[in-house]
Amino acid sequence: MPEGDTIHRAAARLRPALVDQPLIEASSPLPALSDMQLVGRHVTEVEARGKNLLIWFDDGRALYTHMRMSGRWRVLPTADEQPRGDIRVTLANAQWRAVCFSAPTVELLTERGVARHPVLGNLGPDLLAPTLDLAVAVARLRSDPARPLGEAVMDQRLVSGIGNVYKSELLFMAGLDPFGAVGDVASEALEALLLNARKWMRRNLGAGRRRTRWGAGGPDAWVYGRSGEGCLKCGGRVQMQRQGRLGRSTYYCGGCQGVDEAQR
Ligand SMILES: [Zn+2]
Repeated sequence: MPEGDTIHRAAARLRPALVDQPLIEASSPLPALSDMQLVGRHVTEVEARGKNLLIWFDDGRALYTHMRMSGRWRVLPTADEQPRGDIRVTLANAQWRAVCFSAPTVELLTERGVARHPVLGNLGPDLLAPTLDLAVAVARLRSDPARPLGEAVMDQRLVSGIGNVYKSELLFMAGLDPFGAVGDVASEALEALLLNARKWMRRNLGAGRRRTRWGAGGPDAWVYGRSGEGCLKCGGRVQMQRQGRLGRSTYYCGGCQGVDEAQR
């Protein structure tokens, strides 16, 4: 699943190509989008909200896409041949064509529809927003104190932006038990966790592959994807455990993160 920084990067690519230009094409094979009536409209903004992407038009509507595991946006010159693949929606101006592939969620919403949307209307603070209200984010995280920490930080209604990679990496860096209750973690520790999330996600907004380890040599990540390998801090064994209703993979070092194996 893309992390919040992936979507912010996509928005940064789409913005200069689309904003302020009138559309000469807007098409989709999806029945719900067969009559979008967007040709001639201008794109006013491309907005990333956590892992959600919104392309706003000058009539107040917005095209909402969520990538989940498979979706992606590509930008290519309009003069190029139309690409092939599992295209969900195409927006083109005289110069650039933006094509969304394989996204499971593609919806055209009114401004009111965005505000009342079950996902968009209930997002926790975006860790990559220009200003972040830490107190609100921490309060939301602690709203269900018995919830395992590794599930709470991934719940986009509490804070938005953290996906599977950052979850494992941030909890390892902080030495926190992903299976422990979020209510048992001090507010100061949760604040530090979120600030560290913001720091690494911002650092990864540039080009190049995502890294959560820098300048130390060796792997790009501390524990993510390293099940069975040695912990880079203590030499113990990195493990992976499926977690939560969706069975998302959580990588961790039991020794460094104080995981009580008998409790699980
Ligand atoms: Zn360790």
